[in-house]
Amino acid sequence: MKVRLLHTADVPPSHVRSAFSGLAPPLLPGESILFRGSLASSYDRSRAQYDAASVLELVPAPEPGWLNLLLVGVDLFVPALTYVFGLTHLAGGRGVLSLARLRPPEENALSEEVLSHRLRVEVAHELGHAAGLVHCVVNDCPMHRSLWPESVDLKNPDFCASCLALLPRAK
Ligand SMILES: [Zn+2]
Ligand SMILES: [Zn+2]
Repeated sequence: MKVRLLHTADVPPSHVRSAFSGLAPPLLPGESILFRGSLASSYDRSRAQYDAASVLELVPAPEPGWLNLLLVGVDLFVPALTYVFGLTHLAGGRGVLSLARLRPPEENALSEEVLSHRLRVEVAHELGHAAGLVHCVVNDCPMHRSLWPESVDLKNPDFCASCLALLPRAK
């Protein structure tokens, strides 16, 4: 499966590169492009955050064999939660991922290396959902559920053997 990484202008190029270079099989880097749409209609004034489901609707549906992931700098929420790292319709082929909570304000001194690891793990997580994977019990699998950034550090961008077996083969 080829990956099209869309990103808003507020995502630093180094993060886009690191997300792209961290793709593990069967995910293949396809293309990385600037997202030209506007997220304004997804902004929730009362929460001062962006509605993840509404942002997800802005992500174009991919052609067969491709997955589309939109990387944004703004903070995302779903109504039941304080925030989400990202959102994907299961097996829908497209997802959205935010950098905002991967580096919380209290972790400003966090090394770029840690941040880029978190980014690669969560890119794999959302793309895994987009390709049809559900959450996984294996602790270091990217499909393991993470509720806070520190728990992302325990995961690895490479899919575990059972998740890998469920993913379509790269063509
Ligand atoms: Zn998930
Ligand atoms: Zn797994």
